[in-house]
Amino acid sequence: SQVPSLTLNNGLEMPQLGFGVWQVPDDEASKAVATAIEAGYRSIDTAAVYGNEAGTGKGIAASGVERDELFVTTKVWNADQGYDSTLRAFDTSLDLLGLDHVDLYLIHWPLPAKDAYVDTYKALEKIHADGRAKSIGVSNFLPEHLERLMGETSVVPAVNQIELHPQFQQAESRAFHARHGIVTEAWSPLGQGKGLTVPTVVAIAHKHGRTPAQVVLRWHLQTGHVAIPKSVTPSRIVENIGVFGFELDADDLAALAALDEGKRIGADPREFSAGA
Ligand code: NAD
Repeated sequence: SQVPSLTLNNGLEMPQLGFGVWQVPDDEASKAVATAIEAGYRSIDTAAVYGNEAGTGKGIAASGVERDELFVTTKVWNADQGYDSTLRAFDTSLDLLGLDHVDLYLIHWPLPAKDAYVDTYKALEKIHADGRAKSIGVSNFLPEHLERLMGETSVVPAVNQIELHPQFQQAESRAFHARHGIVTEAWSPLGQGKGLTVPTVVAIAHKHGRTPAQVVLRWHLQTGHVAIPKSVTPSRIVENIGVFGFELDADDLAALAALDEGKRIGADPREFSAGA
């Protein structure tokens, strides 16, 4: 695959572009994942709460690509936070995926009001020590949550997966991650498709003979993030990995930097508590 990798803080490699399967029904996930792997994706992002780990696992098995060439991420859901419940949730995820390990296991949300993310992370450290998750990390953690976590646990998270797209650029979190050797992974990297009609993006796409989605994904790659765009449309799955062989220049990057509105599409991690 032509997708470059980033080196995580434990020395392992993670593809910089992956395929996300949020909102893909379980019975469609197998086909979507197989299509993505066929198109050249080697990294798949799912979560227990997406309800499609079984379909994702079937797509992986059907792809015929060797397990060690794939990078599979899943996440522990809010309802399962806590040490023992996380160990049980992880077993269920592995069973559904049909795998003996994942490449990355994440805490899906910090749930500060539940105050269980430190114990939850200690379960991730145990899973990591047992070799069943090659890397561990978090999602939707703010710097304040990471500070506390790192003060009370030993394994620095390899990744923090956060909402990140040109309309919501998260400068503070990215700087914090850079200082601590944590890779920034962008969820909703295309802003769920909403930012693709912005004139600046369309103009840069015309300039390079590319599509708006390709420009936004190229921005993620050149800014140093991991991005995990989602689509179930085969032509878009292919389009979203067609982001090599061109480069945004300094003018393009400056124009895209100016699109930041500091507004989330998704939930605020300080408040989000679904399932808890
Ligand atoms: P996204 O930014 O990837 O946008 C996906 C949507 O954009 C598609 O449904 C489609 O409507 C549109 N789209 C995709 N490709 C396109 C193209 N080439 N041209 C035009 N429109 C296109 O949003 P997402 O699905 O929310 O996020 C991607 C992945 O991130 C998810 O599938 C999931 O794996 C992950 N995610 C994680 C969290 C979290 O809390 N950790 C939250 C949301 C998403």
